[in-house]
Amino acid sequence: MRPMNRRDWLKTTMGGASVVMGLTVLVLTTTASQVQAEIVSEGTVTINTAFPGGNAKVTANADSSVHLEPDLRGGRPWFYWCFEATSTKPGNVTFVFPENVAGFKNGAIGFQGPAISTDLGTTWKWMGTAQVDGDSFFYDFTKANERVRFAVTIPYVQTELDDFLKKNASNPHLKKSVLTKSRDGREVELLQIGSPGPEVLSMLVTGRHHATETIASYVLEGFLQEAMSESEFAKEFRKKYVLYAVPFVDKDGVEEGDQGKNRRPHDHNRDYGEKSIYPEIQAIKKLDKEKNFRFALDFHCPTLVMNDHQVMYFVGPKEHPAYNFQNVSELAGWIKKGLPKSAPVGPYVWLRPAKTPAPMNSNYFGFKKGTIMAATLEIPFAPPGKSTNPASCRKYGQTILAAWVSTHFRAPVGKPDATAKHSATPVKKTNPVATVPDKFEWLPLEATDGQTDLDRQGSHSYDACW
Ligand SMILES: [Zn+2]
Repeated sequence: MRPMNRRDWLKTTMGGASVVMGLTVLVLTTTASQVQAEIVSEGTVTINTAFPGGNAKVTANADSSVHLEPDLRGGRPWFYWCFEATSTKPGNVTFVFPENVAGFKNGAIGFQGPAISTDLGTTWKWMGTAQVDGDSFFYDFTKANERVRFAVTIPYVQTELDDFLKKNASNPHLKKSVLTKSRDGREVELLQIGSPGPEVLSMLVTGRHHATETIASYVLEGFLQEAMSESEFAKEFRKKYVLYAVPFVDKDGVEEGDQGKNRRPHDHNRDYGEKSIYPEIQAIKKLDKEKNFRFALDFHCPTLVMNDHQVMYFVGPKEHPAYNFQNVSELAGWIKKGLPKSAPVGPYVWLRPAKTPAPMNSNYFGFKKGTIMAATLEIPFAPPGKSTNPASCRKYGQTILAAWVSTHFRAPVGKPDATAKHSATPVKKTNPVATVPDKFEWLPLEATDGQTDLDRQGSHSYDACW
């Protein structure tokens, strides 16, 4: 039991109704820094981030109002936070973020509100916006010692990946190994689905080059689940491809709850230059030398609240490899055709011409000789009115795998690649829906409904994530 402090003394001597008055007395009789220290220890909730993926910096905690912000840990401004709040009594508590986060007004809370878990992180859902007011949200604790987790996004850490791997431990198509060890000594998983063969092309899928981008992990999980299933698509897929997956490229960042994006001196998706500094990227390059990846698909999430980031979209070099744009456009068409109405709009194809490779995953593989397709797929965190919960995102991943099988990838040499020879697929094929023009001045209507402060700031950028 902690020793009684001045505030306790005031409470005891003046009674419960005098807390506000007690605080006033404190302000009058102590220096500002002392007040701050008292207040931080005296809110009606305590904030805990000591669990995988935890992140928050508490700047003030008094009575039933907590002020916090994303803990940048020496990095550049970004929007990730995830914490557990334990109440000392029932009642309403407000959680307040800075008005400006990562350059965006009300930039710490997405369009579906915060994510919430009332079972210590086992299950999560989006809270909605009824309890959100600009840069803050509130929660009504119903009893003393109630523990509730809140986060900017639905977390996906080692526990979730382990659950997925445990569920599929006996799957004959899945092999699990260790790609490398992270800087902090964690084992980085390498998954293999299918087997190499003379007619089989190898493909790399990656996730969490940026630790914050959890929603992409649920989509990636659905993609992997489908690839190792017994569906017609999966059987066809494994005839043509052997899949290698690195679900957590920035393994330490995922577990430690880092922002990841714009990590100093550069983040994991800017580490594909001559001298890679992260063991994971070094290991991916080495693995490519062994497996000769012909396809690379890198799963990301864009920024949280930027209007034109509320859709799915592909980015990467347009003409590297030669038919990248055509291949990605056909793939995007099949995905769009397969997605339910509740899915985020897209995917749009926003590949751009690039003369020299940027040190990113999609560029590294895009400019490599022999690659057939390389791109980054951005999945929005919480677009308004659309579904991005774990179950729906897994389904989108499943759809992407089916779309992959339906796509007639063309190799750079100009003739149809071996992958298109297997046209005797049991899956009925029709022409995919019309591909989307890659005009950058063009914005999806659904993503730009209504003027916001972001529009007025002119902060629109296609480079903001990947
Ligand atoms: Zn990213």
